[in-house]
Amino acid sequence: MTAAPAQRGARILLSSPDVGGREQELVAEAIASGWIAPLGPMVDAFEERIAERCGRRHAVALSSGTAALHLGLLELGVRPGTAVIVPTLTFAATANAVTYCGAEPVFVDCDPDSGVLSPELLEHALLSLQQAGTDVSAVVPVDLLGRCADYTALDPVCDRFGVPVVSDAAESLGAAHASRPAGSFGAVAALSFNGNKIMTTSGGGMLLTDDPRTADRVRYLSTQARQPAVHYEHTEIGFNYRMSNVLAALGLAQLERLDGMIGRRRALRERYAEVFTGIPGADIFQRSGDRSDNCWLTAVIVDRDRTGWSVEELRAALEAAGIESRPLWKPMHQQPVFAGAPTYLDGSADRLFDCGLTLPSGSALRDDQVDTVMGALGAFLGERR
Ligand SMILES: *Cc1c(COP(=O)(O)O)cnc(C)c1O
Repeated sequence: MTAAPAQRGARILLSSPDVGGREQELVAEAIASGWIAPLGPMVDAFEERIAERCGRRHAVALSSGTAALHLGLLELGVRPGTAVIVPTLTFAATANAVTYCGAEPVFVDCDPDSGVLSPELLEHALLSLQQAGTDVSAVVPVDLLGRCADYTALDPVCDRFGVPVVSDAAESLGAAHASRPAGSFGAVAALSFNGNKIMTTSGGGMLLTDDPRTADRVRYLSTQARQPAVHYEHTEIGFNYRMSNVLAALGLAQLERLDGMIGRRRALRERYAEVFTGIPGADIFQRSGDRSDNCWLTAVIVDRDRTGWSVEELRAALEAAGIESRPLWKPMHQQPVFAGAPTYLDGSADRLFDCGLTLPSGSALRDDQVDTVMGALGAFLGERR
């Protein structure tokens, strides 16, 4: 159920929050209970349920996914003078968190089909960095658009080089890889509950780990690193990164509805797959093997030599019909802010960025809005056949 349905005729967005009656109920309960300040029983319950869902011993609710990445990296020993391997095809937050620790991101390319970190290029990068005497303090695989990274192939490589893994699971809650839930991989994993993600607390994140010491340390660092003394003794620099009890209430309600929301996104992907069936050169991104993905965003990959039209033409046609669509993440090695960073590339991320377009994928889309999108796509494709 949707609390504030968009107006008929309003712009159709990529992934808007799907929030309704159950969310209002639990948030009202949190406020009525008097637990407004950060922390409280809803934070404890939310952590417990997320840990259970992700198959982890410990979960720490934080103010954002970026905060979870930052503290996870710090706790694994990421420091100035070290390098951290980040897939070039990701959202900037993954690389930003590395720079917060004073370390240098090294950008590695992706598998050309699935878009997740390439195990072969990772191995090549680790070997080459080792030979150059670079201290690699972590690898951060990203679960792209709800597809888990290929941990089966990545983990043994990282083990062999003795480098810890921080899993960026910001986009993949509810997905799985090799029968294990997203968030269960890596020494630590980070989830995001930002407004556009598969479920939201309006803004928030979670750090997941099986190590009790790491969980304790992250709780401590995220609440200003206060030593247990009445006068607040500080021996380390802390952060104000905890999640508030009111937002955890929102998260609890969203988590109850997670499977339903994933189901709606998956059904949308099926509709897109139908529309593009029989269009040579236009393929649904990550379609192969997507049964255990959470289908957070659906994208189409367009080979304009075969279709005769480009993703930019498609984007413009959708825009004219009041429908938002967007290229895939602009690779980090193309971002001005990361110019000059070391890279290990084979052109895969560049190609996906040039040829990929993400389409409206939100679970809050009404049936008539879905029909509008499919109609606009059908009209575009019909004209160009
Ligand atoms: C959204 C996102 C983040 C950051 O999460 P926030 O909660 O917005 O800080 C990190 N990594 C990836 C891949 C993301 O998509």
